[in-house]
Amino acid sequence: MKTIRSRALFQRANSFIPGGVNSPVRAFRSVGGDPLFIKQAKGILLEDVDGNKFLDYVLSWGPMILGHANSQVLKAINCATKRGTSYGAPCEGEVELTQLIVKTVPSIDQIRLVNSGTEAVMSAIRLARAYTKRDSILKFEGCYHGHADHLLVKAGSGVATLGIPDSPGVPESFARHTLTAPYNDIKATEKLIHKNAQKLGAIIVEPVAGNMGVVPPNDEFLEWLRMITKKYDILLIFDEVITGFRVHVGGAQALYKVIPDLTILGKIIGGGLPIGAYGGRKDIMQMIAPAGPVYQAGTLSGNPVAVAAGLETIRLLKRPGVYKDLEKRSKLLAEGLGEAAKRAKISFYQTRVGSMLGGFFTEGPVTDYAGAKKSDTARYAKFFHGMLNHGVYLAPSQFEATLLSTAHTNRHIQQTITAAQEVFSKLR
Ligand SMILES: *Cc1c(COP(=O)(O)O)cnc(C)c1O
Repeated sequence: MKTIRSRALFQRANSFIPGGVNSPVRAFRSVGGDPLFIKQAKGILLEDVDGNKFLDYVLSWGPMILGHANSQVLKAINCATKRGTSYGAPCEGEVELTQLIVKTVPSIDQIRLVNSGTEAVMSAIRLARAYTKRDSILKFEGCYHGHADHLLVKAGSGVATLGIPDSPGVPESFARHTLTAPYNDIKATEKLIHKNAQKLGAIIVEPVAGNMGVVPPNDEFLEWLRMITKKYDILLIFDEVITGFRVHVGGAQALYKVIPDLTILGKIIGGGLPIGAYGGRKDIMQMIAPAGPVYQAGTLSGNPVAVAAGLETIRLLKRPGVYKDLEKRSKLLAEGLGEAAKRAKISFYQTRVGSMLGGFFTEGPVTDYAGAKKSDTARYAKFFHGMLNHGVYLAPSQFEATLLSTAHTNRHIQQTITAAQEVFSKLR
């Protein structure tokens, strides 16, 4: 594969941008090699600056569920830009998008739009602390909720107790307010809750974990979280930045029929433009300024172009049959990959919820971060590069999801399976 231009760009980028990228996982560090610079994308095809073409299973990490450059979404964006790109004053599109989300996502009575998932999580935590008048939060190991200080915490191995910061620059005094438990571990979580009930304001969880690879919730995990948080007057926050409008039009909460107090959205609801949102019960949301005392603001929040892209994306997703189709194709791909691995005698533990696919190079089962970390990441790196050489662009990390869009056809999937058969057979 020719990568002359990508390499030249990466070298230049390294002079001006730390590590040459504007978000770390793009840098290919966990699989080795240099990142490819993308020139353009259409449907599920990514084309890099050297002219290499790939079937895309990253989809900008989630937003491009309709594929790239969807003509109807582009039209909505173009129409919006002609009317100006930001007003710093309310516009009709904000009302339409928020109304549509409220109608579609069960837990949301009211919603506030922001500019990224990180910002949405940060704001929701502030709100939860204000509402419950308690400072501590509980998160699960391996769940990612953006890079806000108090969430860059996952704690050490074993039964987690008090948080240890994951990054320099996060004060220990912040991290101390963050408790962590292993995902899917009801026993450990219950212990932590019992011990900290008086100071615990919120539990935040990815209802399907998508940032340690894909790890689905065990039977009853989410239901149990709902029950225990109600019992102790703790707010339950679902981070549906990936799962929202992906695993079901109403998000994971609609799929598993568990209704949190607050929900975080992002990615898909911006149709490929920067956005984030947090919403939930009206009595909680009414605490946000200017309705209430909890301050949160944003120059570009509810941006007219982003809301136009999001609105059109969600409208298209609400057409009948969209999720059934996604499910069919995702199943086809998962089965094909599984058979290919089996034929090559490679241990490949698969997980899947709708169009979120996971595959770990381990015997499995993988139900939490400790299990996910058992995956042979060196083997994943080989698999990744092998697939790349066969024109398939997977996430440059074992601990990310493989995602499908409505633009993936049976032909694309067959092509991908054929590539995987060859790559798996050479992995041993
Ligand atoms: C991507 C992601 C975020 C962060 O969103 P950004 O827009 O990147 O800030 C938060 N939570 C989850 C579950 C995510 O996948």
